[in-house]
Amino acid sequence: MEGKNKIPAVFKEDLKKLLQSIDELESIEKGERLCKVCSKVVSLENIQLIIPRKDKTYDFICDSPVCVEEYNRKNELKK
Ligand SMILES: [Zn+2]
Repeated sequence: MEGKNKIPAVFKEDLKKLLQSIDELESIEKGERLCKVCSKVVSLENIQLIIPRKDKTYDFICDSPVCVEEYNRKNELKK
């Protein structure tokens, strides 16, 4: 089936709402948030993970498979 793995069009709107609810939408749109792993600027186009930290801050991971994998690996180590 073609297109089965595509992200639904509604996703970006949901993402915006989510980012707005945590007060990070503006920072993302301004390019002020960097991927925790590769330090690339995270945007609405390439954001993959949003990880809540203490003190109401968030870590962001871009959509590079390497970064997602790296982050998951580090998380495993912490357990
Ligand atoms: Zn990255």
